[in-house]
Amino acid sequence: MNFNRRRGAIALFITLGVFMSGVAITLNIGWILLNTRRLAADIFGVILFSALIAGVVLNTVFLVREIRRNERQDSFLNAVTHELKTPIASIRLYLETLQRHPVDEAQRQKFYGIMRSDTDRLLNTVETVLKAGELGQRREQQRARIELHPLVADCIQTVLRRHHLSPETIELAEVPGNVRLYVMGNAEDLRTAVMNLLDNAVKYSPNGVHIVCRLGIERYTWVVLSITDTGLGIPPPELKRIFKRFYRAPANDPVKIKGTGLGLFLVRTIARQHGGSVRATSEGTGKGSTMLLRLPLAIGNKMTTDSAST
Ligand code: ADP
Repeated sequence: MNFNRRRGAIALFITLGVFMSGVAITLNIGWILLNTRRLAADIFGVILFSALIAGVVLNTVFLVREIRRNERQDSFLNAVTHELKTPIASIRLYLETLQRHPVDEAQRQKFYGIMRSDTDRLLNTVETVLKAGELGQRREQQRARIELHPLVADCIQTVLRRHHLSPETIELAEVPGNVRLYVMGNAEDLRTAVMNLLDNAVKYSPNGVHIVCRLGIERYTWVVLSITDTGLGIPPPELKRIFKRFYRAPANDPVKIKGTGLGLFLVRTIARQHGGSVRATSEGTGKGSTMLLRLPLAIGNKMTTDSAST
């Protein structure tokens, strides 16, 4: 509600700015036409006036951007607070139950399992926030030659365990030509990026998970990891915005999927620090989406003509 009211205020602000600029320009032109004799002074006035208008427009744009950034920070704080509070409240409730009531062994084990996944969720949120801060400040990086297929396979196993999914829900295709694809990078960061993409693919597939991961070579110099899901999809105007820090697509609000808006920002930062990029494609809402992570291919890959595809 608050968000919609703010959006309304911004729209009013922009309309008012555009209207006022229009009126000012019309008045100015009218004034010139009425006073053609004092042409030099008028031209000087027009230039000054245009500079003034440009300043007002720039100022408005800047203000609107600041307001949007503040909004994103507000909703990030709300989301993080929620993500921290919910598992803590849940763990506390189970601990109280265990402390106050006699529970049989089977139920006790079940409670331990729930508390464990709640602590995992807490840890995950804290790690994401810490990582976002750390990546922004880091200058130098330890780089090593990393083979991508085993790294992605390992991330898939972790995601399957974390979300209690059966193995066939996430598929990893063989690399065309069975080449081994290497990149120069930081294994921990690359794992963070791949895990975030996989976690999202699961999270935004509330009606059943079916994910396909593919690795391939693009233009002989890039490794591309594509992760395709059959989930909620992304409307075209959101395809770029979702990589901004704290940004969460409003289209997913009704489905109430929790998150902080930091995951894809982390992926983009990591991709850029490795000299690569990430982008999203989707046919639209309800039609699934594909995330494409592109990284420079490390020299020393054995290439066949088959593999130089994608
Ligand atoms: P979070 O998931 O914590 O909201 P992210 O930065 O990971 O933050 O994602 C930003 C937004 O991008 C999400 O709020 C969601 O709307 C959209 N998004 C990301 N991945 C997917 C996906 N696989 N399918 C549909 N929407 C996605």
